[in-house]
Amino acid sequence: MRGTSTTCDVCGRVKGETNHWLVAVSLLDHAGILYQPAELASDPRKSDYTYIDICGHNCAGKHFAAWLADSTRTQQEDVCQQ
Ligand SMILES: [Zn+2]
Repeated sequence: MRGTSTTCDVCGRVKGETNHWLVAVSLLDHAGILYQPAELASDPRKSDYTYIDICGHNCAGKHFAAWLADSTRTQQEDVCQQ
């Protein structure tokens, strides 16, 4: 066990031992998003990616909906500026 506790970035729940947590990895410019099981996403985190800790499928769905809305809005703004 590590000394640091992980909390869900969507609902704020503290990670327990039996939870099936996910990590959402995204590029800073909303180019894409990847959901990985937390156990498989333990590599050193890179500074040019955003890592979001998620406590389960329910919060993953909420996070993806929010990301999708944000990504769509960003793309529309880019179109308007051109
Ligand atoms: Zn959550």
